[in-house]
Amino acid sequence: MISVEGVDKWFGTNQVLFDIDLQIAEGEMLCLIGPSGSGKSTLLRCINHLEEINTGRIRVDGELIGYQEKRGRLHELTEHAACRQRVGTGMVFQQFNLFPHMTALENVSFAPIKIKGTPKAEAHEHARSLLERVGLGGKAGSYPSQLSGGQQQRVAIARAVAMRPKVLLFDEPTSALDPELVGEVLEVMKDLVRTSQMTIVVVTHEMGFAREVADRVVFMADGRIVEQGTPAQVLDSPQNERTREFLSAVI
Ligand code: ATP
Ligand code: MG
Repeated sequence: MISVEGVDKWFGTNQVLFDIDLQIAEGEMLCLIGPSGSGKSTLLRCINHLEEINTGRIRVDGELIGYQEKRGRLHELTEHAACRQRVGTGMVFQQFNLFPHMTALENVSFAPIKIKGTPKAEAHEHARSLLERVGLGGKAGSYPSQLSGGQQQRVAIARAVAMRPKVLLFDEPTSALDPELVGEVLEVMKDLVRTSQMTIVVVTHEMGFAREVADRVVFMADGRIVEQGTPAQVLDSPQNERTREFLSAVI
């Protein structure tokens, strides 16, 4: 479903991704872990075409997300938003990023109405059922400022799912939350992993979560994939010294 081949990414003179190769199967749930600055967010953002890559190819559901030919001329294949919409990739960020002037219901139904042209009544009905599913059936009329961080993040998840994406990317969705609110968001994510067919990639420091629901854990350091395998392989018997160092610091 997601194919990353030989991807390099530079910010100015600073190379932050080095020859990344990663194949993610349809319906797979992958957790991406690694120290701060290792390139996890950048990789997710490249997959979602929020960043251009300098070398290599990324395909999502067979669509080329952007590539550069060997001679160096960048081919902008598609307009970004249109491309994301067609390949159906949703993303949930650390800082919720809800529209502050819209209610929970409006946040969740906005894109289906505006981008997909879903009739309003139908979009609202779907949004209500999604809010119900994330445990916020009673909060449809609340504005983000009236919701806790955990509730806002659950609205953000419902909003991403409302577009019926095939691929859902999460970038440290619980890192900005007070500790007592982390569990409710992880529960919603576990429910999604178990009950949906989506291909899901989660950047997280929640090792318990990764252990419980990930099909695969990928460890990155210094812009490279250092080690990957099942949660048991990577988290319980890491082979690489960098992985061991990182895990002993976070667990
Ligand atoms: P964290 O765990 O702190 O979120 P990360 O693994 O997500 O870290 P990235 O945010 O991908 O790391 O950053 C990788 C490198 O790219 C870092 O050196 C960072 O400073 C650099 N970087 C990220 N975004 C930009 C940008 N827009 N412009 C310039 N450099 C950037
Ligand atoms: Mg990051």
